[in-house]
Amino acid sequence: TAGRPLGTVLVAGLGVSGAAAARVLLARGDDVLLTDAAEPAVLAELVGAGARWLGAIGEPPEGVDLVVTSPGWRPDSPLLRIAAARGVAVIGEPELAWRLRIAAPGAEPAPWYAVTGTNGKTTTVTMLEAVLQAGGRRAVAAGNVGRPLVEVVTARDADGAPAHDAIAVELSSFQLHWSSSIAPAGACVLNVADDHVDWHGSFDAYRDAKAQLLRLAPVAVADAGDPVASSLVAAHRHPVTVTLGEPARGQLGVRAGALVDRAFSPEPAGEVLVELDALQVRGPHNTVNALAAAALARVAGVDAAAVGRGLAGFRGGAHRNVLVGSVDGIDFVDDSKATNPHAAGASLAAYPRVVWIAGGLLKGADVDPLVAAVAPRLAGVVLLGRDREVLARSLARHAPSVPRTVVPSGDDGAVTDGDSVMREVVAAAVRLARPGDTVLLAPAAASMDVFTDYAHRGRAFADAVRALG
Ligand code: ADP
Repeated sequence: TAGRPLGTVLVAGLGVSGAAAARVLLARGDDVLLTDAAEPAVLAELVGAGARWLGAIGEPPEGVDLVVTSPGWRPDSPLLRIAAARGVAVIGEPELAWRLRIAAPGAEPAPWYAVTGTNGKTTTVTMLEAVLQAGGRRAVAAGNVGRPLVEVVTARDADGAPAHDAIAVELSSFQLHWSSSIAPAGACVLNVADDHVDWHGSFDAYRDAKAQLLRLAPVAVADAGDPVASSLVAAHRHPVTVTLGEPARGQLGVRAGALVDRAFSPEPAGEVLVELDALQVRGPHNTVNALAAAALARVAGVDAAAVGRGLAGFRGGAHRNVLVGSVDGIDFVDDSKATNPHAAGASLAAYPRVVWIAGGLLKGADVDPLVAAVAPRLAGVVLLGRDREVLARSLARHAPSVPRTVVPSGDDGAVTDGDSVMREVVAAAVRLARPGDTVLLAPAAASMDVFTDYAHRGRAFADAVRALG
């Protein structure tokens, strides 16, 4: 399908992936219509390349053959519902990329090794990229991690050959909702917890979007410790699970302080991939991510030694359990990317005694199970953000003796300067901590009530820690 004209394509949503889709379609000579707001420079560029800008529209114009939509558009938005009712196909940018993959003459397009899940996707695909590269592949991480897939699958090197021979793909549930024919060579659903249920309409619809990734993959990987993900994989013809315990046959796991593969290794006892101590990313959740990345790399045929080298060389992503400073024996860790309770729970489990910085926009998630589970590790809590009282009530129920400080912030109409809020938060955390403790920013909530985004929240934290001297 890569060279065939697609006809008239309406691109709805002109963020990073929508703009990339429009660019690739225009370069192929397809007829491109655009809707939704866009950066003026992007719009000017696309219109200059031949696209037609329609402004905001309530229904697709006559003659549209295909709609390419963005995660920002809810499935129940009128434009998408009317398109579907008229029999016009609606797809996301990853599905478009799948259909437009290029190949060298006589070869297959680069295989996709795909990861979805509620948490750990970006860490796992960037680990996978490192491991594939250690195995000699011209691999790249793309999709929800940032680089649009359409760009990567059509990229050529200086000789005109496809630029990549393996793609580590991160897909969100939104992207999977609009995918139908993507057939990765290996697929992983890391975990499925309560998040984004508002967009999908129900937890079942959210889970089913994730399950969609496994349908056309010859091998399906999941975290054995996650009940929903492992039950999805159990129904698959080639299930592989990863475990923090001793691996059974068909699993990757941990034995005597080392990661061991008993799923793809010809040795009955399995092969050692890497010592746990050699990993630079800490915490049980990152061990799970490493095992999942290793499983997909093994599907790709990377040998055990190269998997080990790739994992040991991986440094972790920004704002994901990064030690930003140590002052008077207290470690300060930025896990601003812990934007839901499931992520924060994984993070807290990595440290024995924690002064926990939490709060922001909870998106309707239930925090009680998290608070009950982490209560024994808490030396103190500092709460911020709009939903701070929800957390405070839960702490009063499950951790009544843990001292806490509340920093009012993020309320509707209040002017908040995130950087000064964070200075106050860090000062309060220091008062609650004693040497040996970890002050952990793992808010269990989104950041936009006080900060631009999670990265801003993480930077504000690191700046406030640095200012402690
Ligand atoms: P995603 O791309 O799915 O948002 P990231 O790799 O960016 O995932 O990690 C986001 C946060 O989720 C991390 O900062 C950490 O708190 C938590 N996390 C990472 N891996 C896992 C995992 N395997 N299980 C649960 N939580 C995790």
